[in-house]
Amino acid sequence: MKPPRFEYACPQSLTEALDLLDEHKSNAAVLAGGQSLVPILNLRMAKPAIVIDINRIPDLDTISSNGRQISIGARARHNDVLRSPHVRLHLPLLAQALEHVAHEAIRNRGTLGGSLALADPAAELPACTVCLDAEIVVRSNRGERKITASDFFKRIYSTALEEDEIITRIDFPIEDSFWRFRFDEIARRQGDFAIAGLAFAARCDEAKVTECRIVFAGVEESPRRIPELEEIFIGANVADEENIQRAKAAVADVIEPLTGGELSPAYRLHVVRELLARVVRDLAHPDMARSL
Ligand code: FAD
Repeated sequence: MKPPRFEYACPQSLTEALDLLDEHKSNAAVLAGGQSLVPILNLRMAKPAIVIDINRIPDLDTISSNGRQISIGARARHNDVLRSPHVRLHLPLLAQALEHVAHEAIRNRGTLGGSLALADPAAELPACTVCLDAEIVVRSNRGERKITASDFFKRIYSTALEEDEIITRIDFPIEDSFWRFRFDEIARRQGDFAIAGLAFAARCDEAKVTECRIVFAGVEESPRRIPELEEIFIGANVADEENIQRAKAAVADVIEPLTGGELSPAYRLHVVRELLARVVRDLAHPDMARSL
């Protein structure tokens, strides 16, 4: 199908883009890599009066470090994030997850900001931002807001982003070297959206877990930490087999799996249990946990 008619604007500055968004609000759509917006338009699932292309705005794709945090511009392409030395050194979870995102051609155009704004429940990157305690920085003519990832994702395809706001960058704290990270997923084929994905971070001091963050992708309506599962792993060896079994047994009580579609909630829970056990066992091997 062809998209509906729309006006096309290609602002050269953020100020110009924000003025357009302020003028048109919910009648406007921001275009980043177009990997979701273009199919959405072609399927006529959205009919914006104007498409605001942010690809000419300078500095929206910068990836930088100030020693305390890594800042990734909203328009940074998936492949640029994946190959960034800052990301590979300090955010191995993000790099591991990006290996699972779609295919090379889509990763060449798709952007971090686009993936977060879309908030597809099956997407890997929203779960990573929650697990890594990232802050999403948004701008409008009213000013700048920083929203923690935990507060950003509201429901399926729904975020805290207001209609006059653009995501400008995402700030990720640099954690100390005691942290181990692992992202893995189960999908039908390499590059497909996940049936279930898991972002797992554990701070291990003298082999004992002192902090833990567990966030699933593709399982619930939106990514969130699961404290009931996290608590199970605190105070013991990360891959303590008894704790793995306790966590698997608790899954059905603490996860509300997506309904609808061709996968039953019971099957999704089964996949979650097996994925959780696999990821935790992998995390016990420091090489697996930090290497890419
Ligand atoms: P666009 O398509 O340009 O925009 C997407 C939405 O975000 C639009 O609503 C747009 O208005 C809004 N938006 C974009 N940028 C901003 C911004 N800075 N501020 C505010 N709003 C903004 N993703 C996965 O996570 N995992 C997968 O396995 C996966 N597989 C895919 C397979 C296929 C065949 C395709 C086509 C896509 C797949 N994707 C997958 C999605 C892809 O990775 C992109 O991340 C995602 O589509 C966002 O695309 P984009 O960055 O091009 O944004």
